[in-house]
Amino acid sequence: MQGIQKNLLDLHPDEINRIMVSRGERSFRINQLLEWIYGKRVLDFSRMTSLPAQLQHDLATAFKLTIPVIKERTGSSDLAVKYLLQLEDDNLIEMVLMPYEGKTTLCLSSQVGCQYKCKFCATGRMGFQRNLTVHEITGQIFIASCELGERKLTNLVLMGMGEPLDNLENILPAINILQHEKCFSFSPRRITLSTCGIVPGIYRLAESGIKLKLALSLNSAVQKKREQIMPVAHRYPLNKLKKSLQYFLERNPYRITLEYVMIRNFNMNREDILALRKFSGDLSCKINLIPWNQVDGSNFTKPLEKDIETFMDALRGMKIAVTLRESRGTDIQAACGQLSARACSRR
Ligand code: SF4
Repeated sequence: MQGIQKNLLDLHPDEINRIMVSRGERSFRINQLLEWIYGKRVLDFSRMTSLPAQLQHDLATAFKLTIPVIKERTGSSDLAVKYLLQLEDDNLIEMVLMPYEGKTTLCLSSQVGCQYKCKFCATGRMGFQRNLTVHEITGQIFIASCELGERKLTNLVLMGMGEPLDNLENILPAINILQHEKCFSFSPRRITLSTCGIVPGIYRLAESGIKLKLALSLNSAVQKKREQIMPVAHRYPLNKLKKSLQYFLERNPYRITLEYVMIRNFNMNREDILALRKFSGDLSCKINLIPWNQVDGSNFTKPLEKDIETFMDALRGMKIAVTLRESRGTDIQAACGQLSARACSRR
């Protein structure tokens, strides 16, 4: 275990096993180490008291167990708590804890910033800085668990800063650790990955064999309108996107969620409803409607209650589940990227 200090949290349990076996450790020691880290959430080798002192020392020499640190914590009147987290290189990311309806969901970031410039998103305006590493992704779960104390974290959504399908080299190993029985042991149906529609990434995710729920940030099923609010639609048009979703569905047991942010006088008229019906009609999916959440400096406006009802009524005839999700944490700037954009502008 010589050389540059790696972060042990970047390694899959099989890799940890291989390293421990190579130094003559027995399997119960490996299980003890994993239990300290993932069971007891202890990230300090010197506190792993059931491990021999020499092993604690050798592990501490070869490996780090560092995770992001909380820089700012902002509570919302609807119970969402948003965290601004600092990485080792001083970059900032966000995560949001949302305890609602008997579930506690953590919204995780996958990148520092994002390259896609969706018009409704504060992160998109920051530009792309870099991908998060495995331990920066899973580290958000350690922080959330610590914040929750006795309460259990039940669901994960990769819906925070960044496009997860652009960081599959770290997202896939992180999800393997999230689902591994000796690590976080999350059921695949409790993990949702949200994409803006990166077609090659959807194929790669489908072929990876990893099971999870997929959400697509659709927002318009009219190609021209989608291009207007999501520039990525130029590169990956709706017809290609739909084929990739069908391919994903052939290899994954869970239906897809189509996220649709309702914007007043933009994507809620008859043309939009017809296009949405056509796009989703033969997909195994549900539609999640979200009223627009105000972002500083945006020209879009929140839909009126009566417009939301009319839109929902028009969709009700479909054999697809349609749900309305309230925008969470509007009073704490919970739309992704708002908190870190503000913090960056203060630096
Ligand atoms: S919505 Fe997602 S993909 Fe679009 S700019 Fe924001 S973080 Fe990037």
